[in-house]
Amino acid sequence: MEQFRNQRKVIIVGAGPGGLASAMLLASKGVYVEVFERLPKVGGRTSHIKKDGFTFDTGPTFFLYPQLLEEIFRDCGASLEDEVKMVRLDPQYRLFFEGGPSLDATPNLDQMEKEVAKISVEDAAQVKAFMKENEWKFEKLRPVLQKPFNSLKDFVSPSMFSALPAVRPWASLDDDLKRFFKDPRTRLAFSFQSKYLGMSPYRCPSLFSILSGLEYQHGVFHPIGGCAAVSEAMARVAKRMGVKFHLEEPVEELVFDGRRVTGIKTKSGQHNADALFINADFARAMSRLVPDHLLSRWTKKEVKDKQFSCSTFMLYLGIDGIYKDLPHHTIVMAEDYKTNLDDIENNHQLSGSPSYYVQNACVTDPSLAPEGQSTLYILLPVTHQHENVDWNKEAKRYREVALDRLSLIGLGDIRERIVSETMLTPDDWDSKYEIHRGAVFNLAHNIGQLLHNRPRNRFEELDGVYLTGGGTHPGSGLPVIYESARISSNLALRDLAVL
Ligand SMILES: Cc1cc2nc3c(=O)[nH]c(=O)nc-3n(C[C@H](O)[C@H](O)[C@H](O)COP(=O)(O)OP(=O)(O)OC[C@H]3O[C@@H](n4cnc5c(N)ncnc54)[C@H](O)[C@@H]3O)c2cc1C
Repeated sequence: MEQFRNQRKVIIVGAGPGGLASAMLLASKGVYVEVFERLPKVGGRTSHIKKDGFTFDTGPTFFLYPQLLEEIFRDCGASLEDEVKMVRLDPQYRLFFEGGPSLDATPNLDQMEKEVAKISVEDAAQVKAFMKENEWKFEKLRPVLQKPFNSLKDFVSPSMFSALPAVRPWASLDDDLKRFFKDPRTRLAFSFQSKYLGMSPYRCPSLFSILSGLEYQHGVFHPIGGCAAVSEAMARVAKRMGVKFHLEEPVEELVFDGRRVTGIKTKSGQHNADALFINADFARAMSRLVPDHLLSRWTKKEVKDKQFSCSTFMLYLGIDGIYKDLPHHTIVMAEDYKTNLDDIENNHQLSGSPSYYVQNACVTDPSLAPEGQSTLYILLPVTHQHENVDWNKEAKRYREVALDRLSLIGLGDIRERIVSETMLTPDDWDSKYEIHRGAVFNLAHNIGQLLHNRPRNRFEELDGVYLTGGGTHPGSGLPVIYESARISSNLALRDLAVL
């Protein structure tokens, strides 16, 4: 490839998945790209925590729809498949309802009907119809997820009109699933995926039923080495195309000429560019990097008034031995699932008997732990930072709640087997990872904060600035974050007269 043939330069703030995918796409068109990252490694929330010989994914563990990232690799003359081995999981995960039963979710729909029949024979008969509708819905929505929403005009486009019957904006995910499933547990089995967006299925817009459709139709994958290995592969490919990474070099200030951003300042001085991509957490970047007087729509006050996703309480445990009977992913639904969700989203308090998720990755990928040992990743969805919860006081107590809850799925001896431990609370997400209010899934995904109402890919408040990552359109979650990079890169390439 003829490097930097366009003599255009783009700076990217942050080497998370959005920043990495943007770097790849811009560099593949001959743009010179420099990425500035405050942490000593790439990947952001999609990076590793390495400790005592154990390797944990920090955030994402469900890798969905690799086809999209494969396309981006191909655009760069590389192959995702060659860079990272992907294992399609079957069962995809175990769904454990505290009051019973437990289902092993499988993409084999005949078998899945039998699993759902443990809850309701009537609901089981609807599984294939639900999947079929989801396939249709995904095809209708795909063009909407792939295009920018620069203004209200884009909202009244032919692709939007065609997608409207699939969107059903008035219905929540749970309400929508009532058309198929009577038992609330069956509805949860096909709607808990809204938690990937940090939302409850009772509030999440119905269009997101495509998430469970994506899982069953296209698979749930484990990248060998973890999702962080994907971020590292992206950086490798970007470097091969000449992208320059500055690790441990936070962007401290943006340089302005009126409304136009002309560069950044870091500890090494001023760096100028033709365009700037912001991948850092949207709300944090706006309040840290952009002076109030330059923002009209997104003033600091408005950022404060936006609705944010939930946060997570995390335990990353190195374990003596391995829990062989525990599948790769287990999702435990609290008996009173609704109250737990209310505590997270409305009451902003910690539940006594919370739902949780456990990843037992070494059953698929022993490379993550020393011989004879294994990793357990435990995630409890909790409220984002709120005055009701003082994590300085609660963290230790909540650790005990989490460990006690593990006995439900047969890990009653966990305390004796822990040989390494790392804990993250919403306060840590805020201070160590620079995530506004520790809201790890970014701005909430309600209809009022989606499409043209989400911060736009070509950021209209400033000139020469593009957003990439979970804070812009289409939203949080790896496949759509990669898509945000594609949308923003195409806009920038056109604006820079490269395309
Ligand atoms: C616990 C958890 C579980 C998740 N599970 C899943 C899952 O299973 N599947 C899924 O698809 N998604 C999941 N997600 C959601 C999402 O995919 C990830 O959070 C993803 O990493 C977000 O990518 P991003 O590009 O928006 O930002 P980030 O990953 O946050 O990257 C932003 C980068 O910007 C850097 N930065 C910030 N400020 C500056 C500055 N001033 N200067 C330089 N650099 C800066 C940060 O250090 C960071 O590296 C999960 C998230 C979390 C936290």
